[in-house]
Amino acid sequence: MSVQVRSDVSLKPYNTFGIDVRAAHFAEAHTDADVRELLAYAAAQQWPVLVIGGGSNLLLTANVEALVLRMASTGVRMLSDDGQRVIVEAEAGEPWHAFVQWTLAQGLAGLENLSLIPGTVGAAPMQNIGAYGVEIKDVFVGLTALDRQTGELREFTLEDCAFAYRDSLFKRNPGRWLILRVRFALSRAMHLHLDYGPVRQRLSEQGIEQPTAQNVSDAICSIRREKLPDPAELGNAGSFFKNPVVPAALAEHIRQAHPGLVAYPQADGQVKLAAGWLIELAGWKGYRDGDAGVHRLQALVLVNYGQASGMQLHRLAQKIQVDILERFGVELEMEPNLY
Ligand code: FAD
Ligand code: NAP
Repeated sequence: MSVQVRSDVSLKPYNTFGIDVRAAHFAEAHTDADVRELLAYAAAQQWPVLVIGGGSNLLLTANVEALVLRMASTGVRMLSDDGQRVIVEAEAGEPWHAFVQWTLAQGLAGLENLSLIPGTVGAAPMQNIGAYGVEIKDVFVGLTALDRQTGELREFTLEDCAFAYRDSLFKRNPGRWLILRVRFALSRAMHLHLDYGPVRQRLSEQGIEQPTAQNVSDAICSIRREKLPDPAELGNAGSFFKNPVVPAALAEHIRQAHPGLVAYPQADGQVKLAAGWLIELAGWKGYRDGDAGVHRLQALVLVNYGQASGMQLHRLAQKIQVDILERFGVELEMEPNLY
């Protein structure tokens, strides 16, 4: 083996909840060849394999009896440039935010609203990451993945990925494809998305009336730093629940009892509710049981104050799900991947 495989490794530094479970085996892949070598080795040993990136969308509830393969491949490049539209490609292990900043430094717009999302490029297609009115599907052109069933490389187009709200083909088939690199079509012209939450207001407070993509990125970073706990200081995996999309009649029923309901009509006639608003209304904001809690500023974020286990956090999430179902008739779906 040219790649080092370690045994009995703490995963605490490798998940942003900071949960201290152990991996039976752990290795980092820097190249496609490393990936193939590690998968072949694990198969020979009859070890299952769990692929991770930055560990920012994981809830680890037990020791992982598998080879944890962390994607650490780096590299970004421009594949084509017609003066307006530029295709860029990044390796799976590239840190997402650093990649976004690199695109902005090249004068390319498209990813600015997705600034400061933790994790890696390779995991971004998993749940079609989104923020401030933009999802990666809006600028995605393709990706290269290894089919773990056949060992063959496969190219995926936008249509192949079946992206939806925090969802994709990859999320629905966990473990089937290992994403190696991802391509995006970015623009030298600015088509900025400012009409979401406080983005435009933050820019105008700063006296910026004609923003650049970099200005938008900076504004979003400052908003996010104010609202969201930094995993380096307080363990969390971002939003713990997806925003539920419910029939309009149910949203109307809730609105009659709670006129301030935060709700966004969808193209298909259904209504997206803000899960954080429901959880806050139910009184969970700032709740703490031992080291597992609900963030005091953002009720959608569960936090680990230090020694919480994944099981404790999972139990807290389940209590919230039951409460929200009983109070509002709304089912909340967990967003992080549970292992
Ligand atoms: P991991 O947590 O390591 O893995 C997530 C899943 O992807 C796992 O199932 C893993 O097996 C799989 N996976 C990882 N890499 C690969 C690969 N190369 N090939 C195949 N499968 C792979 N998400 C949003 O959508 N929008 C946000 O605004 C947002 N904000 C966040 C803010 C904070 C503070 C935090 C902590 C999280 C936030 N997230 C957000 C969630 C998370 O950052 C993203 O989902 C991110 O894309 C996860 O990347 P990762 O590398 O950490 O993935
Ligand atoms: P926010 O701005 O307080 O908004 C609350 C909710 O209302 C959001 O979840 C958002 O849904 C929805 N919303 C707000 N304005 C909207 C609009 N104009 N049209 C449609 N829906 C709208 O949310 P926040 O918690 O501070 O987060 C800001 C953005 O970052 C959101 O897009 C959020 O999804 C994203 N974020 C995601 C994570 C994660 O882990 N997934 C963590 C932190 C932040 P959407 O979520 O559908 O956008």
